[in-house]
Amino acid sequence: MTAEARRTILVVEDEPLINQMVTDRLRAEGHDVVQAHDGPGAVVAFEEHDPDLVVLDLMLPGFDGLEVCRRVQALRPVPVLMLTARDDETDVLVGLGVGADDYVTKPFRQRELVARVHALLRRVDRAAELAAEAAPTRTVGSLAVDGATRRVRVDGADVHLTPLEFDLLTALAAEPGSVRSREELMQEVWGWSDASGTRTLDSHVKALRAKIGADRVRTVHGVGYALEER
Ligand code: CA
Repeated sequence: MTAEARRTILVVEDEPLINQMVTDRLRAEGHDVVQAHDGPGAVVAFEEHDPDLVVLDLMLPGFDGLEVCRRVQALRPVPVLMLTARDDETDVLVGLGVGADDYVTKPFRQRELVARVHALLRRVDRAAELAAEAAPTRTVGSLAVDGATRRVRVDGADVHLTPLEFDLLTALAAEPGSVRSREELMQEVWGWSDASGTRTLDSHVKALRAKIGADRVRTVHGVGYALEER
């Protein structure tokens, strides 16, 4: 039996075999799992069962995973693990600011999916703990990161970041000017780290750069990223 607390997880996937495999595996981990097989059904199931996390396929009948993500996030913030068909879709989805917390490309190993689900749940728990503490404000050049209100200002102007982008910026701002390795950043922001996460991290760095200014985040090839004073 797992050490993870029992949670309610909504699995949205129109391919019956994949839906059942994921469901069986998460149930074996001790979770309550609710299944949905299309976009509208996912929103109904979300409202009925109030899940702690959603595993969400991108391509669905009715309306797609993007629309499901928008609709459920509008009801209540919830961690979403998106299933995509291709690696390069992650870039596009993060750029769109869809609001998913992590992405797994099909085909995936069941063990990998479970690890990601548990990392996401831990991340949410940790964020709640951090929010309860007095978080410091960090200033890096003309960039101000307010941990208490989770607001970011660039040259005095508010910049809207997604929760993940904010956490990534906070991790970079903890050691301004120093290189933070990809592994450190993955571990700190997503709670897990392996080679398959590189795409997710790079996509979020790209989205962050678009919002705070590309020259603020320096790429150190083969190592990671550094937040520069500007
Ligand atoms: Ca599908």
